[in-house]
Amino acid sequence: MIIELDSLEIIFDSGKEHFKVLDIPHWQVAEGGQVAIFGPSGSGKSTFLHTLAGLLPISSGKLSVCGQALEGMSEANRDQFRAQYVGYIYQNFNLLQGFTALENVLLGMTFSPRKSDPEEAKRLLDEVGLSHRLKYHPSQMSSGEQQRVAVARALANRPKLLLADEPTASLHPVNKEDVLRILLDICNRHGCTLVLVTHEREVIGLFENTVTFLEFNRVYQGTVGG
Ligand code: ADP
Ligand code: MG
Repeated sequence: MIIELDSLEIIFDSGKEHFKVLDIPHWQVAEGGQVAIFGPSGSGKSTFLHTLAGLLPISSGKLSVCGQALEGMSEANRDQFRAQYVGYIYQNFNLLQGFTALENVLLGMTFSPRKSDPEEAKRLLDEVGLSHRLKYHPSQMSSGEQQRVAVARALANRPKLLLADEPTASLHPVNKEDVLRILLDICNRHGCTLVLVTHEREVIGLFENTVTFLEFNRVYQGTVGG
């Protein structure tokens, strides 16, 4: 299993108040799996991906990602874990505006122990159909093209796990399916496991393995189910 968790809880603590966002009894994803998690805004999806990426400390329970136990791991070690194993795609692409498509992908290699490799970066941009956009800046590209650059960048470190947070929510409807198919294809080709979260019902139709946050996160169940 590339992801395995038991009794995972994330509690935000403001000093005065405890606010539990995640309470997930059990979940696992096999290596190479492609999972879409569907849930409305505010249900804890981004918090869940941040947790899988090692961006948040675990309040209680167990979480193993890529064979690494994240509970109790120091922030520095979680940063190292993320650099080694995880790629991330955001709703708003998070490309660096002052850099070209090729440079953005090369920057994705910066935190890797491997040296940055322009030939590999070009290959990745070719795989997402952008070999004609290497020298374009984000502002010169459509939103669909920018998200494809972000997909190439996310794979630049050869991650074992790719996390995608609402990757199509900012795209024009005609580009959504394109970007999703590219994402699913490239993950398949690279043997990279994909976990995507979304509030868009049409997105989960392309996935064989889907989860609704309602069935998944006991905090959310409590609020909505009464
Ligand atoms: P989603 O991605 O499904 O829209 P989020 O994971 O962003 O949901 O947020 C889930 C809940 O956790 C929201 O109520 C949000 O306000 C709260 N939350 C998120 N981050 C923090 C934080 N750092 N401190 C306190 N509350 C937070
Ligand atoms: Mg979110």
